[in-house]
Amino acid sequence: MASKELIKKLEETIENFPDFPVPGIQFKDISPIFLDSKLYKHVIADLAAFSKGKVDAVCGIESRGYLFGIAIAVALEVPFILIRKAGKLPPPVASEKYDLEYGSAIIETREGQIKPGQRILIHDDLLATGGTTEAAAKLVEKQGANVSQFSFLIGLKDLKGHEKLRKFGAEIYNILEY
Ligand code: AMP
Repeated sequence: MASKELIKKLEETIENFPDFPVPGIQFKDISPIFLDSKLYKHVIADLAAFSKGKVDAVCGIESRGYLFGIAIAVALEVPFILIRKAGKLPPPVASEKYDLEYGSAIIETREGQIKPGQRILIHDDLLATGGTTEAAAKLVEKQGANVSQFSFLIGLKDLKGHEKLRKFGAEIYNILEY
């Protein structure tokens, strides 16, 4: 969906840092996108076009999922819901525990912000193993809403996150794939 120009510009802008923060990780730094407001606008227009007319609310995953997620929701004129790490939101909250490589983590939303039956877009900056996004989708579903779409700026295909998300039967979109 994204134009060749947008893809090329993003490839030139996003910086890759091998072995950061730990050996073996190719860290993609998206922060240079925010130095170029025209490029940022194009990214939002592209991500919003993917979801236009297809979702009733956007859920963004802390913290880089907020950088684009809120702007997507504003462009679509639908609510934005923060999915936060445990302990940051006042009660009552809905929560979902998931496994990390070592140990586990919990993500939460304010109870009542996601409405039963809503079609939800889950957005994050980057899809790696898909562990966090899978937990976010379970958190949405346990509140009676439907995950209709996932969107990311970047998908790391070798880490097979897409496969983990397939079971939700939602559309998946990433502008760039590495
Ligand atoms: P995962 O749960 O493995 O899909 O991890 C996704 C989250 O970790 C995203 O929100 C990213 O912000 C961050 N992340 C994982 N891998 C990378 C990477 N190679 N470069 C930049 N951010 C990453």
